[in-house]
Amino acid sequence: MQNTDTERPQKTIQRPQNSIWASFRIIPTVILVAIVIATMFTAWTGPGIISGGLGNQYEVVSMEDQIETTPGSSSIEAGSHRVGIVAGHSGNDSGAICPDGLTELSINQKVASFVQQYLVEQKIQVDILKEFDDRLSGYKGLALISIHADSCEYINNEATGFKVASALNNPHPERANRLTTCLRNRYAQITGLKLHNSITNDMTSYHAFDEIDNETPAVIIEVGFLNLDRQLLTQHTDLVAKGIAEGLLCYLNNEDATMQIPTQMAPQSTP
Ligand SMILES: [Zn+2]
Repeated sequence: MQNTDTERPQKTIQRPQNSIWASFRIIPTVILVAIVIATMFTAWTGPGIISGGLGNQYEVVSMEDQIETTPGSSSIEAGSHRVGIVAGHSGNDSGAICPDGLTELSINQKVASFVQQYLVEQKIQVDILKEFDDRLSGYKGLALISIHADSCEYINNEATGFKVASALNNPHPERANRLTTCLRNRYAQITGLKLHNSITNDMTSYHAFDEIDNETPAVIIEVGFLNLDRQLLTQHTDLVAKGIAEGLLCYLNNEDATMQIPTQMAPQSTP
């Protein structure tokens, strides 16, 4: 488009005698530089921001005190600066049971409680939810993580490790994938447990996935096997919780989680 009125090329550039006009001429440049920097910053903050920007939104919110955000730059709704943690089987049944009476439920609840403590220290609001909590219906949050543990029966020596899965029909697969990747990566690093390379239908079609709000990315984690991973689950529950909390923070803060982690092969293929 033509801009003949405002275009006065070269003339006043020679001498800055008209310093006021010179200043005005600088303004478009300043704005342009600002736009370029803003664009670079947005791009640098992480991939998938535009379509999967929950992590970015979280950052904007967390930095509110330091950075004046422009109206509309954050689309977080009031009350949504929270995450949901489902303590698997709570309010319903005890889950897997060991011969000596140790229950999956007791592990899940302890882990959920530690995760909550850990995240609250990071200024994140946490809702601890029951397995079939009424609040799951339309649940809105930055993420939802359901905590479970695997069987206490001895299967074979490969029945060790953890699993993380998200919904198959998630409307924002990039968010769910990143949450899954972050959790797998941080959980493996912190607990030393291997990723068990089998995901069952029970996990991908987990009931809560269909109940919560479409915009809430959700995963289910099997923190380990009650049999072979019992020592970690019962005696280092803090590490288990830290692995989950750090995985969530990795997602919320758009941290890098592309590092390779060791994988435990499945004892048998799962249909
Ligand atoms: Zn379970």
